[in-house]
Amino acid sequence: MSDIQHRPGNDATRYVTASSEHLVSCHSCGLVQPLAHTIEKQRCTRCDAIVHRRHSDSIARTWALLVSAAILYIPANLFPITHTSSILGSEDDTIMTGVALFWNDGDYPLAVVIFIASILVPILKLLSLAFLTISVQRRSSWQPRQRTTLFRIVDGIGRWSMLDVFVITLTVVLVRFESLAVITAGPGTLAFASVVVLTMIASMQFDPRLIWDNVDQPGKRHD
Ligand SMILES: [Zn+2]
Repeated sequence: MSDIQHRPGNDATRYVTASSEHLVSCHSCGLVQPLAHTIEKQRCTRCDAIVHRRHSDSIARTWALLVSAAILYIPANLFPITHTSSILGSEDDTIMTGVALFWNDGDYPLAVVIFIASILVPILKLLSLAFLTISVQRRSSWQPRQRTTLFRIVDGIGRWSMLDVFVITLTVVLVRFESLAVITAGPGTLAFASVVVLTMIASMQFDPRLIWDNVDQPGKRHD
């Protein structure tokens, strides 16, 4: 929450944040109050909710969730995501063999959508969040604006990540209607859904204000 203040006689724009003014805002009722320097958790003077300057343990929590998501990314790709059984026999498909199957059948758009949504996007999100967390940990002051934009993109993609689970469900429904084959979701689906959910929570735990904490110096412009 930064605010721009113009000081008379000073043409440089000064950025004032609640933190730089030793203030903290309550997440429950919005009351802005002085930041207490106590070891105990500070409580809101008006509504008694716990107030904190930044998301508590943001970096540790983001890492824990990212590492879990990265581990689950392996079974999500190795284990079958669909199990097809028909008179001709049964077949297990992982995400990659599924993509290959659609591609070979000439369903190029579907193959591309599944490849982007279930292989490319999850790995790019994991890498981007890891990069942002490392940069904050190293107290980097490099390109804060671009890093904030990257975070916004990662956070925004989150709500579309379930698209792939949706595509799988839709395929299952369509195939069930059109053929005698019976398709059920494989164990990879659970791992994949976990990757999506864990990455989504990881991006919620990451506090983008931490990016600016390392560059915020009074009297300095960032753009
Ligand atoms: Zn409050």
